[in-house]
Amino acid sequence: MTDLADQLRTALDRAEATARAATPGPWHALDGGVVDDDHEQWPVADTDSKRNREDRVFIAANDPAHVLLTVAAHRRIVDRHQPQQVNGDYHECRTCSDGYGYHDPAPCADLRDIASIYLPDLDQGEPR
Ligand SMILES: [Zn+2]
Repeated sequence: MTDLADQLRTALDRAEATARAATPGPWHALDGGVVDDDHEQWPVADTDSKRNREDRVFIAANDPAHVLLTVAAHRRIVDRHQPQQVNGDYHECRTCSDGYGYHDPAPCADLRDIASIYLPDLDQGEPR
């Protein structure tokens, strides 16, 4: 069985690959669309929405460079909140459990919060 941390690592790898395949950032929102840093090429994105300017700014703010930073930060959080096996089948978060008697069952809330971003269809049961 694949645990949540492993599923998250797979999802993070996928998000990273998608960002690396896109036109590198930084992206800029101009009147002609969202363009990459050299401003010489065709827009990497455009919109004709009612909130055209705001949407372009939003797209530019979420360029591949931003996504790669976000994925790297989420990967560090997943690594810190790695489940560890304690007493047979019981798993707890090695970071959220304090080592002085408080045992936070894995996957912890931090791991489940990251999963809500990358694995939104995953049934994580009742919130704890
Ligand atoms: Zn944790």
